[in-house]
Amino acid sequence: MAKSATKQTKRPKHVPLRSCVSCHETKPKRELLRVVRTPDGHVFVDATGKKSGRGAYLCAKLSCWEHAIKKKRLEQEFELTISEEDRAGLDAFIATLPKDDPIPPPEKMAKSSAGRKKTVEG
Ligand SMILES: [Zn+2]
Repeated sequence: MAKSATKQTKRPKHVPLRSCVSCHETKPKRELLRVVRTPDGHVFVDATGKKSGRGAYLCAKLSCWEHAIKKKRLEQEFELTISEEDRAGLDAFIATLPKDDPIPPPEKMAKSSAGRKKTVEG
């Protein structure tokens, strides 16, 4: 009897998590957009997620990007000043983002704005 060496370990799939540099929500990496700083100091949106360089992650929503740009979150993250050229590239990308959440989380919808539990700042 030849037993094959297939192991069937029931292990939950490892989902890599990253947090948005803008709202700091932790989400599966796949749901976030990656911005990369290349070794030569350029900053751009890395659609493939595979570019080498230092990465920062943002939600795929306009508010997070606008916040990140306004508050210089990316510049803080990358410890550099984003050049006008690269900034223009980011702006062009941001312009393609949906203005609102594509899928609004139901829990947030149910709760009234009167009872805010957490104060999230920054
Ligand atoms: Zn976010």
